[in-house]
Amino acid sequence: MLLVLLAALLPLSLRTAAAADDFGACVSQLQAAAVDRGISAQTLEATLPNIRPLERVIKADRRQAEFVQTFWNYLEGRVTPVRVDRGREYYAKHYRLLHGIYQEYGVRPEYLLAFWGMETNYGSYFGSVPVLDALATLACDQRRSEMFTREFVNALLIHEGGAMDITRARGSWAGAMGHTQFLPSTYLQHAVDYDGDGKADVFNSLPDAFASAANYLRAIGWNREQRWGREVLVPFKFDWTLAGLDTKKTVSEWRALGLRDAFGRPLPHSEIQGSLLLPQGHKGPAFLVYDNFHVIMKWNRSISYALAVGHLADRIAGMGRLTATQPEHVRLLTTAEVSEIQSLLNRLGYDSGEPDGVVGFKTRAAAQAFQNVAGLPADGYPDHTLLAHLRQAAR
Ligand code: CA
Repeated sequence: MLLVLLAALLPLSLRTAAAADDFGACVSQLQAAAVDRGISAQTLEATLPNIRPLERVIKADRRQAEFVQTFWNYLEGRVTPVRVDRGREYYAKHYRLLHGIYQEYGVRPEYLLAFWGMETNYGSYFGSVPVLDALATLACDQRRSEMFTREFVNALLIHEGGAMDITRARGSWAGAMGHTQFLPSTYLQHAVDYDGDGKADVFNSLPDAFASAANYLRAIGWNREQRWGREVLVPFKFDWTLAGLDTKKTVSEWRALGLRDAFGRPLPHSEIQGSLLLPQGHKGPAFLVYDNFHVIMKWNRSISYALAVGHLADRIAGMGRLTATQPEHVRLLTTAEVSEIQSLLNRLGYDSGEPDGVVGFKTRAAAQAFQNVAGLPADGYPDHTLLAHLRQAAR
Protein backbone atom coordinates (compact mmCIF):
# COMPACT_ATOMS: atom_id res chain seq x y z
CA MET A 1 0.00 0.00 0.00
CA LEU A 2 2.75 2.36 1.03
CA LEU A 3 4.66 1.56 -2.12
CA VAL A 4 1.64 2.32 -4.30
CA LEU A 5 1.21 5.62 -2.53
CA LEU A 6 4.87 6.47 -2.96
CA ALA A 7 4.75 5.62 -6.63
CA ALA A 8 1.79 7.94 -7.08
CA LEU A 9 3.42 10.76 -5.16
CA LEU A 10 6.98 10.61 -6.42
CA PRO A 11 6.58 11.95 -9.96
CA LEU A 12 4.77 15.05 -8.73
CA SER A 13 7.24 15.86 -5.97
CA LEU A 14 10.15 15.23 -8.33
CA ARG A 15 8.63 17.55 -10.89
CA THR A 16 8.14 20.25 -8.27
CA ALA A 17 11.68 19.82 -7.05
CA ALA A 18 13.00 20.07 -10.60
CA ALA A 19 11.04 23.28 -11.21
CA ALA A 20 12.34 24.71 -7.95
CA ASP A 21 15.90 23.83 -8.99
CA ASP A 22 15.37 25.57 -12.33
CA PHE A 23 14.07 28.67 -10.60
CA GLY A 24 16.92 28.58 -8.10
CA ALA A 25 19.42 28.36 -10.96
CA CYS A 26 17.67 31.20 -12.71
CA VAL A 27 17.76 33.40 -9.61
CA SER A 28 21.52 32.80 -9.52
CA GLN A 29 21.69 34.12 -13.08
CA LEU A 30 19.60 37.13 -12.08
CA GLN A 31 22.01 37.72 -9.24
CA ALA A 32 24.95 37.65 -11.67
CA ALA A 33 23.15 40.12 -13.94
CA ALA A 34 22.53 42.35 -10.93
CA VAL A 35 26.17 42.22 -9.84
CA ASP A 36 27.18 43.16 -13.41
CA ARG A 37 25.15 46.32 -13.07
CA GLY A 38 26.66 47.21 -9.72
CA ILE A 39 23.90 46.16 -7.32
CA SER A 40 25.30 46.00 -3.80
CA ALA A 41 25.57 42.82 -1.72
CA GLN A 42 23.32 44.48 0.83
CA THR A 43 20.47 44.92 -1.69
CA LEU A 44 20.91 41.36 -2.99
CA GLU A 45 20.65 40.05 0.57
CA ALA A 46 17.53 42.09 1.23
CA THR A 47 15.74 41.03 -1.94
CA LEU A 48 16.83 37.70 -3.41
CA PRO A 49 16.27 35.17 -0.59
CA ASN A 50 12.50 35.75 -0.59
CA ILE A 51 11.90 35.59 -4.33
CA ARG A 52 9.22 33.06 -5.31
CA PRO A 53 8.05 31.95 -8.75
CA LEU A 54 4.36 32.70 -9.29
CA GLU A 55 2.37 30.37 -11.48
CA ARG A 56 -0.49 32.88 -11.81
CA VAL A 57 1.92 35.30 -13.51
CA ILE A 58 2.72 32.74 -16.21
CA LYS A 59 -0.99 31.93 -16.54
CA ALA A 60 -1.81 35.61 -16.98
CA ASP A 61 0.97 35.96 -19.56
CA ARG A 62 -0.38 33.01 -21.58
CA ARG A 63 -4.06 33.85 -21.19
CA GLN A 64 -6.00 34.28 -24.37
CA ALA A 65 -9.64 35.28 -24.67
CA GLU A 66 -12.00 32.95 -26.49
CA PHE A 67 -13.60 35.77 -28.44
CA VAL A 68 -12.07 38.89 -29.92
CA GLN A 69 -13.47 41.85 -28.02
CA THR A 70 -14.87 44.62 -30.20
CA PHE A 71 -13.61 48.16 -29.82
CA TRP A 72 -17.08 49.22 -28.76
CA ASN A 73 -17.22 46.72 -25.90
CA TYR A 74 -13.69 47.67 -24.86
CA LEU A 75 -14.62 51.34 -24.75
CA GLU A 76 -17.91 50.78 -22.88
CA GLY A 77 -16.06 48.74 -20.29
CA ARG A 78 -13.43 51.40 -19.66
CA VAL A 79 -14.95 54.79 -20.30
CA THR A 80 -17.95 54.26 -18.03
CA PRO A 81 -20.23 57.09 -16.78
CA VAL A 82 -18.87 56.52 -13.26
CA ARG A 83 -15.28 56.84 -14.48
CA VAL A 84 -16.08 60.02 -16.38
CA ASP A 85 -17.79 61.54 -13.33
CA ARG A 86 -14.96 60.62 -11.01
CA GLY A 87 -12.45 62.06 -13.47
CA ARG A 88 -14.33 65.35 -13.46
CA GLU A 89 -14.44 65.35 -9.64
CA TYR A 90 -10.69 64.75 -9.49
CA TYR A 91 -10.12 67.50 -12.04
CA ALA A 92 -11.79 69.96 -9.65
CA LYS A 93 -10.12 68.49 -6.58
CA HIS A 94 -6.56 68.52 -7.99
CA TYR A 95 -6.99 71.58 -10.21
CA ARG A 96 -4.00 73.54 -8.92
CA LEU A 97 -1.65 70.57 -8.83
CA LEU A 98 -2.60 69.44 -12.34
CA HIS A 99 -2.34 72.92 -13.84
CA GLY A 100 1.04 73.44 -12.21
CA ILE A 101 2.25 70.23 -13.82
CA TYR A 102 0.73 71.30 -17.15
CA GLN A 103 2.67 74.58 -17.01
CA GLU A 104 5.92 72.74 -16.38
CA TYR A 105 5.55 69.63 -18.56
CA GLY A 106 2.93 70.55 -21.15
CA VAL A 107 0.48 67.70 -20.65
CA ARG A 108 -3.06 68.88 -20.04
CA PRO A 109 -4.81 67.74 -16.83
CA GLU A 110 -7.49 65.67 -18.55
CA TYR A 111 -4.83 63.43 -20.14
CA LEU A 112 -3.07 62.76 -16.86
CA LEU A 113 -6.44 61.98 -15.30
CA ALA A 114 -7.34 59.69 -18.22
CA PHE A 115 -4.11 57.65 -17.87
CA TRP A 116 -4.66 57.51 -14.11
CA GLY A 117 -8.27 56.39 -14.59
CA MET A 118 -7.35 53.75 -17.17
CA GLU A 119 -4.33 52.34 -15.34
CA THR A 120 -5.54 52.08 -11.73
CA ASN A 121 -9.09 53.46 -11.69
CA TYR A 122 -7.74 56.67 -10.12
CA GLY A 123 -5.41 54.98 -7.69
CA SER A 124 -8.01 52.58 -6.31
CA TYR A 125 -6.26 49.44 -7.56
CA PHE A 126 -2.48 49.09 -7.91
CA GLY A 127 -2.48 45.32 -8.42
CA SER A 128 -1.85 42.60 -5.86
CA VAL A 129 1.20 40.75 -7.19
CA PRO A 130 4.54 41.19 -5.41
CA VAL A 131 6.58 43.14 -7.97
CA LEU A 132 9.89 41.34 -7.48
CA ASP A 133 8.23 37.92 -7.71
CA ALA A 134 6.37 38.91 -10.88
CA LEU A 135 9.51 40.26 -12.57
CA ALA A 136 11.64 37.27 -11.52
CA THR A 137 8.99 34.83 -12.73
CA LEU A 138 8.86 36.48 -16.16
CA ALA A 139 12.65 36.80 -16.28
CA CYS A 140 12.88 33.04 -15.65
CA ASP A 141 10.29 32.26 -18.31
CA GLN A 142 11.53 31.86 -21.89
CA ARG A 143 9.05 34.12 -23.64
CA ARG A 144 10.41 37.54 -22.62
CA SER A 145 13.34 36.59 -20.43
CA GLU A 146 15.76 39.26 -21.62
CA MET A 147 13.40 42.18 -21.14
CA PHE A 148 12.28 41.07 -17.69
CA THR A 149 15.80 40.27 -16.53
CA ARG A 150 16.57 43.93 -17.26
CA GLU A 151 13.40 45.03 -15.46
CA PHE A 152 14.19 42.84 -12.46
CA VAL A 153 17.63 44.40 -12.10
CA ASN A 154 16.05 47.84 -12.61
CA ALA A 155 13.72 47.07 -9.69
CA LEU A 156 16.76 46.29 -7.54
CA LEU A 157 18.28 49.62 -8.62
CA ILE A 158 15.10 51.37 -7.47
CA HIS A 159 15.38 49.60 -4.14
CA GLU A 160 18.96 50.74 -3.87
CA GLY A 161 17.92 54.32 -4.58
CA GLY A 162 15.86 54.22 -1.40
CA ALA A 163 12.81 56.13 -2.67
CA MET A 164 10.51 53.11 -2.54
CA ASP A 165 10.64 49.77 -0.72
CA ILE A 166 10.53 47.35 -3.64
CA THR A 167 10.49 44.28 -1.41
CA ARG A 168 6.98 45.26 -0.28
CA ALA A 169 5.72 46.69 -3.57
CA ARG A 170 2.73 45.07 -5.22
CA GLY A 171 1.65 45.72 -8.78
CA SER A 172 0.30 44.12 -11.94
CA TRP A 173 1.21 40.57 -12.96
CA ALA A 174 3.72 42.13 -15.36
CA GLY A 175 5.47 44.17 -12.68
CA ALA A 176 3.88 47.57 -13.38
CA MET A 177 3.80 49.82 -10.33
CA GLY A 178 1.97 52.67 -8.68
CA HIS A 179 -0.71 55.15 -9.71
CA THR A 180 0.15 55.05 -13.42
CA GLN A 181 1.65 51.54 -13.54
CA PHE A 182 5.26 52.27 -14.40
CA LEU A 183 7.66 49.48 -15.24
CA PRO A 184 10.95 49.81 -13.33
CA SER A 185 12.79 51.09 -16.46
CA THR A 186 10.16 53.82 -16.95
CA TYR A 187 10.47 54.76 -13.31
CA LEU A 188 14.27 54.97 -13.45
CA GLN A 189 14.27 57.12 -16.57
CA HIS A 190 11.30 59.38 -15.96
CA ALA A 191 10.03 59.42 -12.36
CA VAL A 192 10.38 62.79 -10.64
CA ASP A 193 10.02 64.07 -7.09
CA TYR A 194 7.40 66.78 -7.45
CA ASP A 195 6.31 67.22 -3.83
CA GLY A 196 9.88 67.96 -2.80
CA ASP A 197 10.47 65.31 -0.12
CA GLY A 198 13.56 64.07 -1.94
CA LYS A 199 11.95 60.83 -3.16
CA ALA A 200 10.13 60.03 -6.39
CA ASP A 201 7.33 57.89 -4.98
CA VAL A 202 4.74 56.77 -7.55
CA PHE A 203 2.85 54.72 -4.94
CA ASN A 204 2.23 57.17 -2.14
CA SER A 205 2.54 60.62 -3.70
CA LEU A 206 -0.01 61.80 -6.22
CA PRO A 207 2.07 64.88 -7.13
CA ASP A 208 5.04 62.58 -7.87
CA ALA A 209 2.86 60.15 -9.85
CA PHE A 210 1.23 62.86 -12.00
CA ALA A 211 4.48 64.71 -12.65
CA SER A 212 6.28 61.45 -13.45
CA ALA A 213 3.59 60.53 -15.99
CA ALA A 214 3.78 64.01 -17.53
CA ASN A 215 7.58 63.89 -17.61
CA TYR A 216 7.46 60.50 -19.33
CA LEU A 217 4.89 61.68 -21.89
CA ARG A 218 6.95 64.78 -22.66
CA ALA A 219 10.07 62.64 -23.12
CA ILE A 220 8.35 60.34 -25.62
CA GLY A 221 7.14 63.23 -27.73
CA TRP A 222 3.92 64.71 -26.31
CA ASN A 223 2.89 67.82 -28.23
CA ARG A 224 1.43 70.39 -25.83
CA GLU A 225 -0.24 72.31 -28.65
CA GLN A 226 -2.36 69.44 -29.94
CA ARG A 227 -5.15 67.11 -28.98
CA TRP A 228 -4.92 63.33 -29.39
CA GLY A 229 -7.38 63.26 -32.27
CA ARG A 230 -11.12 63.51 -32.79
CA GLU A 231 -14.17 61.57 -33.86
CA VAL A 232 -15.03 62.14 -37.53
CA LEU A 233 -17.75 61.23 -40.00
CA VAL A 234 -16.67 59.62 -43.28
CA PRO A 235 -18.69 60.13 -46.48
CA PHE A 236 -20.75 57.19 -47.72
CA LYS A 237 -18.58 56.73 -50.80
CA PHE A 238 -14.98 56.65 -49.69
CA ASP A 239 -11.67 55.05 -50.57
CA TRP A 240 -11.28 52.86 -47.47
CA THR A 241 -7.68 52.02 -48.32
CA LEU A 242 -6.84 55.48 -46.92
CA ALA A 243 -7.68 54.19 -43.43
CA GLY A 244 -4.89 53.03 -41.15
CA LEU A 245 -1.98 54.48 -39.19
CA ASP A 246 0.36 54.21 -42.20
CA THR A 247 -1.46 56.92 -44.16
CA LYS A 248 -0.97 60.49 -42.94
CA LYS A 249 -2.57 63.58 -44.42
CA THR A 250 -3.18 67.11 -43.21
CA VAL A 251 -6.56 67.92 -41.72
CA SER A 252 -7.11 70.18 -44.74
CA GLU A 253 -6.50 67.23 -47.07
CA TRP A 254 -8.92 65.05 -45.10
CA ARG A 255 -11.43 67.89 -45.29
CA ALA A 256 -11.07 67.93 -49.06
CA LEU A 257 -11.73 64.16 -49.08
CA GLY A 258 -15.08 64.80 -47.40
CA LEU A 259 -14.36 64.01 -43.75
CA ARG A 260 -16.53 65.96 -41.31
CA ASP A 261 -16.42 66.49 -37.58
CA ALA A 262 -18.62 64.45 -35.26
CA PHE A 263 -21.47 66.93 -35.66
CA GLY A 264 -21.40 66.85 -39.46
CA ARG A 265 -19.58 70.14 -40.00
CA PRO A 266 -16.61 70.34 -42.39
CA LEU A 267 -13.25 69.88 -40.67
CA PRO A 268 -11.26 73.08 -40.08
CA HIS A 269 -8.39 74.09 -42.37
CA SER A 270 -5.24 72.91 -40.61
CA GLU A 271 -1.79 71.60 -41.46
CA ILE A 272 -1.80 69.13 -38.55
CA GLN A 273 -1.08 65.60 -39.79
CA GLY A 274 -3.56 62.88 -39.01
CA SER A 275 -4.49 59.27 -39.81
CA LEU A 276 -7.98 57.87 -40.22
CA LEU A 277 -8.75 55.01 -37.83
CA LEU A 278 -11.66 52.60 -38.10
CA PRO A 279 -11.27 50.40 -35.02
CA GLN A 280 -14.45 48.47 -35.81
CA GLY A 281 -14.47 48.64 -39.59
CA HIS A 282 -16.20 51.03 -41.97
CA LYS A 283 -19.58 50.52 -40.25
CA GLY A 284 -18.24 51.56 -36.84
CA PRO A 285 -16.95 54.80 -35.33
CA ALA A 286 -14.22 56.72 -37.19
CA PHE A 287 -11.40 58.81 -35.75
CA LEU A 288 -8.77 61.17 -37.07
CA VAL A 289 -5.71 60.74 -34.85
CA TYR A 290 -2.71 63.08 -34.49
CA ASP A 291 0.85 62.79 -33.19
CA ASN A 292 -0.20 62.52 -29.53
CA PHE A 293 -2.13 59.37 -30.38
CA HIS A 294 1.17 57.74 -31.34
CA VAL A 295 2.64 58.93 -28.04
CA ILE A 296 -0.20 57.21 -26.16
CA MET A 297 0.59 54.07 -28.15
CA LYS A 298 4.20 54.24 -26.97
CA TRP A 299 2.79 54.01 -23.45
CA ASN A 300 0.68 51.01 -24.40
CA ARG A 301 0.83 49.56 -27.90
CA SER A 302 -2.90 49.07 -28.36
CA ILE A 303 -5.18 51.07 -30.64
CA SER A 304 -8.20 50.46 -28.40
CA TYR A 305 -6.28 51.60 -25.32
CA ALA A 306 -5.07 54.77 -27.01
CA LEU A 307 -8.55 55.64 -28.30
CA ALA A 308 -9.99 55.03 -24.83
CA VAL A 309 -7.41 57.32 -23.19
CA GLY A 310 -8.17 60.04 -25.74
CA HIS A 311 -11.92 59.71 -25.41
CA LEU A 312 -11.83 59.56 -21.61
CA ALA A 313 -9.69 62.73 -21.59
CA ASP A 314 -12.25 64.47 -23.81
CA ARG A 315 -15.10 63.37 -21.57
CA ILE A 316 -13.30 64.53 -18.41
CA ALA A 317 -12.75 67.89 -20.12
CA GLY A 318 -16.51 68.18 -20.61
CA MET A 319 -17.21 66.73 -24.06
CA GLY A 320 -20.09 64.35 -24.73
CA ARG A 321 -20.33 60.73 -25.81
CA LEU A 322 -19.32 59.56 -29.28
CA THR A 323 -21.91 60.44 -31.91
CA ALA A 324 -21.39 57.08 -33.61
CA THR A 325 -23.62 54.32 -32.36
CA GLN A 326 -22.74 50.69 -31.83
CA PRO A 327 -22.85 48.70 -35.07
CA GLU A 328 -25.76 46.28 -34.94
CA HIS A 329 -25.67 42.50 -35.09
CA VAL A 330 -21.96 42.14 -34.52
CA ARG A 331 -21.10 38.45 -34.45
CA LEU A 332 -17.79 38.22 -32.60
CA LEU A 333 -14.90 36.30 -34.08
CA THR A 334 -13.32 33.63 -31.94
CA THR A 335 -9.55 33.70 -31.59
CA ALA A 336 -9.55 30.41 -33.53
CA GLU A 337 -11.32 32.17 -36.42
CA VAL A 338 -8.79 35.01 -36.29
CA SER A 339 -6.01 32.41 -36.51
CA GLU A 340 -7.76 30.92 -39.53
CA ILE A 341 -8.00 34.37 -41.14
CA GLN A 342 -4.29 34.87 -40.55
CA SER A 343 -3.38 31.46 -41.98
CA LEU A 344 -5.56 32.02 -45.05
CA LEU A 345 -4.09 35.49 -45.63
CA ASN A 346 -0.59 34.03 -45.39
CA ARG A 347 -1.50 31.19 -47.76
CA LEU A 348 -2.88 33.69 -50.30
CA GLY A 349 0.32 35.75 -50.17
CA TYR A 350 -0.72 38.51 -47.74
CA ASP A 351 1.77 38.45 -44.88
CA SER A 352 -0.15 38.60 -41.60
CA GLY A 353 2.70 37.25 -39.47
CA GLU A 354 2.65 34.12 -37.32
CA PRO A 355 -1.03 33.17 -36.77
CA ASP A 356 -1.72 33.89 -33.10
CA GLY A 357 -5.42 34.76 -32.94
CA VAL A 358 -4.64 38.36 -32.06
CA VAL A 359 -5.59 41.15 -34.45
CA GLY A 360 -2.49 43.32 -34.74
CA PHE A 361 -1.08 45.77 -37.24
CA LYS A 362 0.15 43.12 -39.67
CA THR A 363 -3.20 41.35 -39.69
CA ARG A 364 -5.05 44.61 -40.39
CA ALA A 365 -2.67 45.57 -43.20
CA ALA A 366 -2.86 42.11 -44.80
CA ALA A 367 -6.65 42.07 -44.50
CA GLN A 368 -6.84 45.51 -46.10
CA ALA A 369 -4.67 44.43 -49.03
CA PHE A 370 -6.83 41.35 -49.60
CA GLN A 371 -10.09 43.31 -49.30
CA ASN A 372 -8.82 45.81 -51.84
CA VAL A 373 -8.06 43.10 -54.40
CA ALA A 374 -11.29 41.24 -53.62
CA GLY A 375 -13.42 44.34 -54.15
CA LEU A 376 -14.55 44.52 -50.52
CA PRO A 377 -14.64 47.77 -48.47
CA ALA A 378 -10.91 47.84 -47.62
CA ASP A 379 -11.17 48.89 -43.97
CA GLY A 380 -8.68 46.31 -42.67
CA TYR A 381 -11.26 45.03 -40.20
CA PRO A 382 -11.40 41.25 -39.83
CA ASP A 383 -14.97 39.97 -39.58
CA HIS A 384 -17.10 37.03 -40.74
CA THR A 385 -17.48 38.53 -44.23
CA LEU A 386 -13.71 38.61 -44.62
CA LEU A 387 -13.40 35.05 -43.36
CA ALA A 388 -16.02 33.81 -45.83
CA HIS A 389 -14.28 35.54 -48.75
CA LEU A 390 -10.90 34.17 -47.68
CA ARG A 391 -12.25 30.62 -47.48
CA GLN A 392 -13.74 31.04 -50.95
CA ALA A 393 -10.49 32.46 -52.38
CA ALA A 394 -8.33 29.71 -50.83
CA ARG A 395 -10.34 26.84 -52.33
CA1 CA B 1 8.27 62.96 -3.51
